[in-house]
Order: sequence, then structure tokens, then C-alpha cells
Amino acid sequence: MAKKKSKIQTPTWLLEGEAESKTKKKTEKTFKVRRCPKCNSDEISVVIGEVGVWECRECKWKGKDVNEDELTEDEFMIYLDEKGEEVA
Ligand SMILES: [Zn+2]
Repeated sequence: MAKKKSKIQTPTWLLEGEAESKTKKKTEKTFKVRRCPKCNSDEISVVIGEVGVWECRECKWKGKDVNEDELTEDEFMIYLDEKGEEVA
């Protein structure tokens, strides 16, 4: 799913989520999702033996500047759902 910075309408659930997080900030759990800056895949992993270097399994990109998304628990669940990842 490509992330676009255009002025498309923010989904209602997202607006609601923002309002909610202001009232109960303390308990909000966030999950960090790292993505490849080249192909936006989350199939990236750290390179063993190289500190802070990531490698993309999809396009073989390698570097330190990965994209980071911070998701709330709800967003993270949606993310996993879209990803279709099976919980082992
Ligand atoms: Zn990639």
C-alpha cells in the first residue's frame, strides 16, 4: 500500500482515532513498522554484522534510512490484516 501525501480525505476512523488518543494517551500502545524507502515493502531486516543497516528482501535495497510508521494497536491490527500475515 503506497503512502501518499496528497490531500485526499482522511478516513473517518482515523480522525476518531486521533481524538481518542488525546484523551487516553498514557495507555496507548504503539507499534513501529519499518518499510523499505524504495519499494515500501515491510519485508526488511537488519543486516547481520552491520550496525543499523537494513536490507529489503523484496528489491534488495540496503541502507540505514528506512521508513518508520508508528501505528496504534488498532491500526496495527488492520495492517496485519491487510498484510494477510498468519500468526504462527
Ligand atoms: Zn524494497
